[in-house]
Amino acid sequence: MLSVVVEQPHRMAVQERPTPEPAAGEVRVRVRYAGICGSDLHIYHGKNPFVAYPRVIGHEFVGRIDAVGAGVSAARLGQTVAVDPVISCGHCWACRVGRPNVCARLQVLGVHRDGGFSEYAVVPEGNAHVIPEGLPLSAASVIEPFAVAANVTHRTGVLQEDVALVYGAGPIGLNLVQVLKKVYGVRAFVTDHVDERLALARGCGAGEDEVINTAREPIEQALRSRGVEGGPTLIYDAVCHPAILEEAVRIAAPAARIGILGFSAVPSAIPQQELTKKELSLHASRLNCAMFPTVIDWIARGLVDPGHIVTHEVDFRDVAGAFALAQERPTQSCKVLLDFGAEG
Ligand SMILES: [Zn+2]
Ligand SMILES: [Zn+2]
Repeated sequence: MLSVVVEQPHRMAVQERPTPEPAAGEVRVRVRYAGICGSDLHIYHGKNPFVAYPRVIGHEFVGRIDAVGAGVSAARLGQTVAVDPVISCGHCWACRVGRPNVCARLQVLGVHRDGGFSEYAVVPEGNAHVIPEGLPLSAASVIEPFAVAANVTHRTGVLQEDVALVYGAGPIGLNLVQVLKKVYGVRAFVTDHVDERLALARGCGAGEDEVINTAREPIEQALRSRGVEGGPTLIYDAVCHPAILEEAVRIAAPAARIGILGFSAVPSAIPQQELTKKELSLHASRLNCAMFPTVIDWIARGLVDPGHIVTHEVDFRDVAGAFALAQERPTQSCKVLLDFGAEG
């Protein structure tokens, strides 16, 4: 089989590797699509401290089960599945209190072990979730980043009266907009510097007055002109720059909650006074905590369409071109998928 391997930072190749056999409790997936995520770019650039090289990257992938290991029902053969990349030990404190996504021995497919940028991938059977009937496979490959958005809204909670603000109309921010608008039906503003991304936000359910280009209009002025008194009550930082958290804390309404998704090692300067004065709650959110069934249910009920953010499908042999597209051309691209083709 062919796999996309990051051999070391800044060196990536499509390599011939032996097709893996599923171990006990595992299934083998013939991958069809795998989405390129910011964290894949970080691994390529040597900026992910958890990864060991060489690594088959990719943690957003879908395909068909073509082999099963010992103890797995043969009924699973042929199922079309989206793969949850989070693998946990089941025994540590975090696992015991229902937070396996921050397991002390966390293994993430495509980070700690080989992932989905490959014609075949072996994964624990429980990580392979059957996708809703009729859902295009390209859209299904966005279930993982959708679960990331679902997780942070689960962490913060969403109230009917909330006025939400999403920083950043990248893949996660746009998925958040869909969750807030289409699942919860709350007022939700979204910011970006790129008009094309804000156009995508409208497609994800944001109203005409809910999109804000902060390159042209400062955030506080924009919210005031749209009748928001006292600041947003629910804020998500999907830009993940240290300065955004500082601003979020400053403009948040009293008793607001802030969802944090970033992985920056650079500190944010946050005065305790701002937090305590307004009794703000900061909710960090990593990957997803068993949210695939929730997202699949939302899709099956027609509430959300993860396919909205897919802009490109690129043959995996041109992974370098696909990375360049995802990284350097935000006006043209949003979610770029690698296409691993059909079986045979
Ligand atoms: Zn991702
Ligand atoms: Zn654990």
